Amino acid sequence: MNADMQEILLEAEEPPSSNPNWNDWRWQLRNAITKISKLHKAFPFDTDKLAVLDKVASKYPLAITPYYFSLIDRKNPNDPIMMQCFPSPEEENLYFHIQDDPLGEEKDSVITGLVHRYPDRALITLTDICPVYCRHCTRKREWCKGKWVRSARELEVIYRYLLLHEEIRDVIISGGDPLILSTGKLEAVLYNLRTIKHIEIIRIGTRCPVVLPQRIDIELVSMLKKYRPIWLNTHFNHPREITGESASACDRILCAGIPVNNQSVLLKGINDSTEVMTKLCQGLLKIGVRPYYLFQCDPVSGTGHLRTPIEKGLEIIKGMRGFTSGLAVPTFVIDGLEGQGKIPLQPDYFLSHEKDCVILKGYKGEIFRYYNPRG
Ligand SMILES: *Cc1c(COP(=O)(O)O)cnc(C)c1O
Ligand code: SF4
Repeated sequence: MNADMQEILLEAEEPPSSNPNWNDWRWQLRNAITKISKLHKAFPFDTDKLAVLDKVASKYPLAITPYYFSLIDRKNPNDPIMMQCFPSPEEENLYFHIQDDPLGEEKDSVITGLVHRYPDRALITLTDICPVYCRHCTRKREWCKGKWVRSARELEVIYRYLLLHEEIRDVIISGGDPLILSTGKLEAVLYNLRTIKHIEIIRIGTRCPVVLPQRIDIELVSMLKKYRPIWLNTHFNHPREITGESASACDRILCAGIPVNNQSVLLKGINDSTEVMTKLCQGLLKIGVRPYYLFQCDPVSGTGHLRTPIEKGLEIIKGMRGFTSGLAVPTFVIDGLEGQGKIPLQPDYFLSHEKDCVILKGYKGEIFRYYNPRG
């Protein structure tokens, strides 16, 4: 038995709690599964699939932290955790109207690493590295460019742009996953942003609470606390991702006075039912996380097999609104192509105008007339 194999068997047999390194986020990153051969050893599948998956992974790499891997239910061939992180031959399928950068992020990038699409907010991408590569990722095209982190020089140009644009009051730090940076590097970015007076709020977009909750350590949250107001947006997609670890990670962020919101992506066979989405959103409220957006999966190459018809999202929202806490109901949005921005979609509660009335539909489907006061 080679050393690699021995290590995997050890990991598989050892309950996470007795692994002394389990809570060390750097260990989790170092031991992430990034090769099909390693995946095959840890999770045996048909050997004849090896070559095709190797080909998929050469285009769209994989990375799965031991923590996220441990959440997979090995008995379920359609496990929702597995489907989010295992490369699939279907990623090579061709679909109509699918492209590498449908949102025109590259075109909208006024300067390297900065997207200024909306009047008062800008988005910075700090790295393309993520602890787990989600198969549905909008930025999949970036993965092939190799691992990069913004250089000091690029950051200087970004700060200068932000300083000159006084209309920007909300800056989103995104990636990749920005929390892959060391706490010190991240602090330098926050420190620099905070020297710009017109920046009111800073948002951090990260999937770490879900795929690498160990990263949310005390050192990180006490650093973040100093640069508030900060809002953290994370990315839970399935109720099974709500674990003791991910709940504690969110709790540590919340205790630092940083609100946590969630942005899910609607994914075929993973969370595309009212039942699963309701369970997810109710579960999020229980851990203090507010469901913010439910995204239609973008028409990005390599994700076609995970996309749902738009009606599916509307049906889910219709099945939630009124039937559960309004706080649990996210806004269903489509990211418009070529930088048109996010477009919110609602089931039809407004039916028509009639003289001085409007005709509305209640959540249970009853239709009624409502007097419309004159302006
Ligand atoms: C989503 C997004 C934002 C933030 O949008 P909100 O609706 O304010 O959450 C900002 N910039 C870009 C490029 C985005 O894609
Ligand atoms: S965490 Fe976000 S940026 Fe990273 S792979 Fe997943 S969807 Fe893409």
